[in-house]
This record gives sequence, structure tokens and C-alpha cells, in this order.
Amino acid sequence: MSSLNLKNIYKVYPSGVTAVTDFNLDIEDKEFIVFVGPSGCGKSTTLRMIAGLEEISSGELYIDGVLVNNRAPKDRDIAMVFQNYALYPHMTVYDNMAFGLKLRKMPKPQIDQRVKEAARILGIEMYLSRKPKALSGGQRQRVALGRAIVREPKVFLLDEPLSNLDAKLRSQMRTEITKLHNRLATTFIYVTHDQVEAMTMGTRIVVMKDGFMQQVDTPINLYDYPINQFVAGFIGTPQMNFFTGKLTGTKTKVYVEFGMDKILLPKEKVNLIVNLDKYLNTDKEIVFGIRPEDFHDEEAWVNDAKKQTIEVKVDVVEALGSETLLYCKTRSEVAPDDGETIKSIVDDVSNLTAKVDSRSVTKAGDTVKIAIDVDHCHIFDKDTEVTILARSEENKADIEALQAKREEEAAAKAAEEAAKLAEQEAKAAAEAEKQRLKMEKKLAKKNKQAADAPVEEAATEEAPAEETKED
Ligand code: ADP
Repeated sequence: MSSLNLKNIYKVYPSGVTAVTDFNLDIEDKEFIVFVGPSGCGKSTTLRMIAGLEEISSGELYIDGVLVNNRAPKDRDIAMVFQNYALYPHMTVYDNMAFGLKLRKMPKPQIDQRVKEAARILGIEMYLSRKPKALSGGQRQRVALGRAIVREPKVFLLDEPLSNLDAKLRSQMRTEITKLHNRLATTFIYVTHDQVEAMTMGTRIVVMKDGFMQQVDTPINLYDYPINQFVAGFIGTPQMNFFTGKLTGTKTKVYVEFGMDKILLPKEKVNLIVNLDKYLNTDKEIVFGIRPEDFHDEEAWVNDAKKQTIEVKVDVVEALGSETLLYCKTRSEVAPDDGETIKSIVDDVSNLTAKVDSRSVTKAGDTVKIAIDVDHCHIFDKDTEVTILARSEENKADIEALQAKREEEAAAKAAEEAAKLAEQEAKAAAEAEKQRLKMEKKLAKKNKQAADAPVEEAATEEAPAEETKED
């Protein structure tokens, strides 16, 4: 049982790569925290810094209020489970699990009791005398978990532990690890690139990108209130639909216009837009986000929500049994049906995915009306990619501050790039001038040489030419 505090943690590898930037997180006792993000975003590095396997470049790490930056891994009271199991092939399952305890000189009866208890929890009692090579992937992963459990650590760190398992086993082990967390009532920190694992297992999720934390929240809040377009697109399958557009209308009747479509926003949403004036009837673009399940092709929806209905051409229908996916094109994307347009199959990409009821009668090739459940829509600033819709009135100031911060960063970056460009141009101009002067000097020297040449010599040189002329 333990709490962790990570304060302004940075990791800069000797190669110069900044893998983690300003990581701040307070983890409470018994939480199941998941670090999720695409490959290379700094998840494993953060976990390894917590484990003590990687030095913290700057910042502070506290376990139960004690600064542990300089503590060796074995003194941090944590156990780590790796993706590749890291079992000793020549030892039996029992010995693999007992090994760490033997090193710590724990009395044999106590080791025996712990190994047997862990084996019972994980359902691997019958394999205790087998060697790892005689086990399946799932069984090996259980042994790796067992080896961590017997240590009764304060914190469990799991680095992509299910990545080597097939899909079915992975979903089975997912629920087993969740049950294990409930049973052990210990703090778990779990790294994965799989958003389904994150959503189903975590009590809180940390979404990372390029070494930066994007958002820390409960699974449902991440889904309903993504702070930016990256989080919105990363969490949820199929991914959220994005349409670039503008806000038009009046302060009481705000429309989202995108492509050839126009949608009326409900008042409750409009009231939550941060800095509406900045976007309303201006050149500033927004990105309108709709999750696939927030499109409806049922007649009742289409009739009830006329001002939130758009027309789409259905390209492909995927009936999955429990639900049906419609891959469609919005009107602006539909090519003129003049028989002349030659469309490449590769370019022919649908720009809207709707998840509708499996009883839907919509067919491929249909042009249909679909209603948008605007109560669940998302709106992002096109430039900063941060949401402009607050969760609540109280949340508006935070969003405004984040927008301002991102704008400042973008301005600083643009200024830096402009300065770099100016420097490059100045360098190129200086080089060109240098070359010009060099050429000028060379020419002057040549001219001087020609002018200084003895007259007779010039005459002899000219003489044969005259001779040729005479010939
Ligand atoms: P993730 O776990 O999210 O896939 P990592 O934490 O492994 O990402 O890596 C984050 C970044 O740090 C990547 O750009 C990676 O190339 C770099 N990195 C990881 N380990 C090292 C290392 N030992 N030396 C230099 N760079 C590293």
C-alpha cells in the first residue's frame, strides 16, 4: 500500500533525446493508473524512472512521502512485470517465483507459503514443478505476475504485460489483472499503447504524446471531455470524426458550418463555449468532433432533429452483429454525378464513420439523412487543437488558460522558426556576397594582368591570326 508523487519529472537521455517533459502526478494508495499513448511517447521511460531502472534527469519522485530519486530499485519496495516475462528458463515455476525471496534470505517456510498462495491466486498451482518452456504464453505471464506478487510490494509496475498474448488471451488476462488489483488492494501502474486496455483497467488514465502529459482523468471523463484533439482521436474506436468548419449565426443561435452542412448547436453547449466572440462569424476555424455512435439514421431521430441532420452518401456498410458501421461521405465530398468524373479508388476515402443500430436498413450506395446527437459533440480550436467547450462554468477559466498557453507556445515557436529562417537567409546572403567579391577580385586581377602584359608579346600572339586571315 502506498502513494506516489511525481513532481516536474524530466528525462533527457545521454543521446540528447528528451523522452519525458515536466511529468506531474499524484497517485493515491490502491489506484490503478494506466499510462497510455503511441509508441515512443515516454510511457516506459516514466515507469522505469519510478522503478529506479532509469535515472531521473530532474524532478522529484516520492513514495509514501519519502524522496526516492537516489534509492536503488531493490530498496523502493516495488515489483515490475515486463512484456517478455523475463523468467529463468532453467528454473521451475516454483523456483522462478521463490528466487527473489531466497536472495532476500527469507525463511523457507515463509517462501513456501507465499509462493503457494500466489500460485493459488493465479491458478497455476499445477504447474509449479514445470519449466517455463513447457508453459503457454498466458501461463508464463501468470508466473511473471506471481513472481511480483510473492514480494508483496507497495507498488506494482506493469510494462505492456499482455502484448505478447493473442487477442482472446489478452482480454482474459485483462480481467484477471483487474481482479488481482481488487484482491491485492495495492497501487498498480500499468503501461500500454492499447486504449482498450487503458479504458477497461484504469481507475485513472494518463494520456501521453511526445513525452508530454496530455490529460489525466477517469476513463469516462477522457471519453466525454477530451481536452484536445489528440486525446479525442486516441480514445475510442472507431475514432472520433473531425470536420474543419466555422461558427456562424448570433450569440443565441450558433451554427457549426462544415463542408456544405450547417448544424444548430443547443443553447447548453453554446453557453459552455470559451471566448465565443473569437470564433463567431470570424475567420478562425474550429474542428467539429462527433463520435461514430452519436450519428443516428433512425427515422425518429432524423425527424426530431431536423436542424442537426446532414445528408451523406454511404460507401460501405459493415454489419458487425451487435452494431453496424457506415462509412460515408458528407455532401462536400460527394463527387458530381456527371458520369465524367474518374475517381481513383485510392483517393476515394470516406470521411465520416457512423456506428448505428444493427437493425439499420441503410445500404451501401444509399444517400441518407443522419442526425447528430449534438449534446455529445466536441469543438476544438483548429490551431491549438485544445477544446473550446468547457465541462462546466467553473471549468471555463482552465480552458481559457490552456488555450492562452498553447497560443503563446505556438507564437514562441513561430518566432523561433522565423528567427532561424532569417538567420539562414542572412547566412546565404553573406555567402553570396563573399562569392561575388571573390569573383570581382579575380576578374580585376585578370584585367590587370592583361593590361600589364608586354606589347611585343601581344603582337606576336596576334601575328598568326593575321596570317590565317591572309590565307
Ligand atoms: P514508449 O514506452 O512510450 O514507447 P519510451 O519511453 O520507450 O516510449 O521512449 C521515449 C523516447 O525515448 C523515444 O523517443 C525513444 O526513442 C527514446 N529512448 C528510449 N530509451 C532510450 C535510450 N536508452 N536512449 C536514448 N533514447 C531512448
